[in-house]
Amino acid sequence: MGSLSGSYFDRALQVIPGGVNSPVRAFKSVGGSPLFIQSAKGAYLKDVDGKEYLDLIGSWGPMLFGQAHPAIENAVRNALGNGFSFGAPSYNEVLIAEKIVSMIPSIEKVRLVNSGTEATMAAIRLARAYTKRDKIIKFEGCYHGHGDSFLIAAGSGVATLGTPDSPGVTTSTAKDTLTAVYNDLASLEHLFNANPSSIAAVILEPVVGNMGLVIPEPGFIEGIRQLCTAHGSLLIFDEVMTGFRLSPSGYQGLTPVQPDLTTLGKIIGGGLPVGAYGGRAEIMNMIAPAGPVYQAGTLSGNPLATTAGLAMLNLITEHPEIYPELNRKGEYLAQGIREQLWELNIDGFVNQIGSMFTLFFTKKAVKNFSDAKTSDTTKFGIYFREMLEQGVYLPPSQFESWFLSTALEDAHLEHILKASRIALEKTIQA
Ligand code: PMP
Repeated sequence: MGSLSGSYFDRALQVIPGGVNSPVRAFKSVGGSPLFIQSAKGAYLKDVDGKEYLDLIGSWGPMLFGQAHPAIENAVRNALGNGFSFGAPSYNEVLIAEKIVSMIPSIEKVRLVNSGTEATMAAIRLARAYTKRDKIIKFEGCYHGHGDSFLIAAGSGVATLGTPDSPGVTTSTAKDTLTAVYNDLASLEHLFNANPSSIAAVILEPVVGNMGLVIPEPGFIEGIRQLCTAHGSLLIFDEVMTGFRLSPSGYQGLTPVQPDLTTLGKIIGGGLPVGAYGGRAEIMNMIAPAGPVYQAGTLSGNPLATTAGLAMLNLITEHPEIYPELNRKGEYLAQGIREQLWELNIDGFVNQIGSMFTLFFTKKAVKNFSDAKTSDTTKFGIYFREMLEQGVYLPPSQFESWFLSTALEDAHLEHILKASRIALEKTIQA
């Protein structure tokens, strides 16, 4: 008897391109056929065939408190009775904007959108309008959503599919996106010098989730800030993954360096579709209708999404103790897996910060996209499939971060480590 997931996927393939609504879900790089999820609660996902999995995807970031946290669920249930979308202002929009502004010091004004992709597209339009310049610089392997300007040397699903550049992106768009090497200030400086007075902005994931987890070297982010200031370019932190995850103020809470603009998503919707971009009032006031830079959205500031987001942000400010606790769990898992690699004599490298981490199947320290690409993706596929067999659902690609939630208890961590040991042994036998 085949599985229900299998039969749903066969049907999906007939009517949805590749059978999924976002490429990485298709298990293309790890093999096998995707699971269809029936429901999720706390630390667990349950598939349509009734099997439960410890969730290390967390919807790719939003589920900081685990799935269907009661405070968020109740808030959304209560809001349901008031209608689903008004196309007119609602009070929650003010409350969530005030909350974001109070939590992230570099943001004085913020605009809500519906996804991280929208946030980054709007942020570079604004940066171009503000600086009256056309070019932007991104880093190889950083993913900023699927806007045309960003599908140049992008990470995440694009890295997984091996299409660093998507057909359909025009060469005239591509020529305005320059790419530097992450953790290599000289490569950035070179681009600035080769393109004087034409760089509108540098955008980056200050901690990268989308080539697998990669952490900035000391001085790297500071150096980018100095170069941007010296050349009159804006610095955009894409904190769609790191926002509210690495600290209540995102990556910005871990460093004195402040960006000019920040993009957010994922956690601020608590699992419902939301994104946001914000920064200094002087820059944000250029957005319509305050200023001439157009950006709009029928469902932006949707009452259910803002309700979920507010409940999430309130949980975060009420429970700052989750951050050291998540870091303890992250370190414990990372260290446990490092020891397994060592005991089994397997080439692997674990990057971890707070509740984000990645096991790369390479012997090289992973500091940029080229390093990440030295990983043995066949081994990762074997590891992934065995972890799934053992009831642990990892992101189905080598080039993604794993996300921990507060719902993972110590017994869950032991389960993950036990599964990992079995999965690592499988990679040797293969
Ligand atoms: N920026 C970053 C850093 C992301 O990780 C993502 C999504 N993974 C995006 C932007 C795009 O967000 P969305 O998928 O909500 O459009």
